[in-house]
Amino acid sequence: MGPGRAEEIERAVRRRLDEQQVRFTPRRRRLVEVLAAATRPVTIAEISAQAPDLAVSSTYRNLVVLETAGVVHRIVTGDDFARFELAEDLTGHHHHLVCTACGAVEDLHASAELEAAVAAAAGRARRRGFVVEGHRLDLLGRCPACREPASAASATGG
Ligand SMILES: [Zn+2]
Ligand SMILES: [Zn+2]
Repeated sequence: MGPGRAEEIERAVRRRLDEQQVRFTPRRRRLVEVLAAATRPVTIAEISAQAPDLAVSSTYRNLVVLETAGVVHRIVTGDDFARFELAEDLTGHHHHLVCTACGAVEDLHASAELEAAVAAAAGRARRRGFVVEGHRLDLLGRCPACREPASAASATGG
């Protein structure tokens, strides 16, 4: 993501917080900067590693504030660690690959065909009087690190 894009995101976040009279403090700005630079949803530990200047306790509090303000989206997976990303209306629509073994999450951009199929489903939902605001579609499975080695079965089998 180029610096121009990061500035654009920061301006959009500032507007959104201003509207809700939520202060865009230096720590919150730093958090948004770290999330904007990330290529996938990150845990609080990963945020701390990226920004050692941010204390973990204040990072958690500020993430909750930003989440309530609609700036940050929280992803809860099988492990105990929530992951955070910027709301997708700030960064662009995408989906996730979720590892059910270790909880790792990667971004996934779906094909135009899949998005069209979901849009058609949304149309059917609207005709039933449902107000569609968006959609989520996560693929669940095992990441390369958690996948059992393909040769393990044959190596131990007899
Ligand atoms: Zn994994
Ligand atoms: Zn989609």
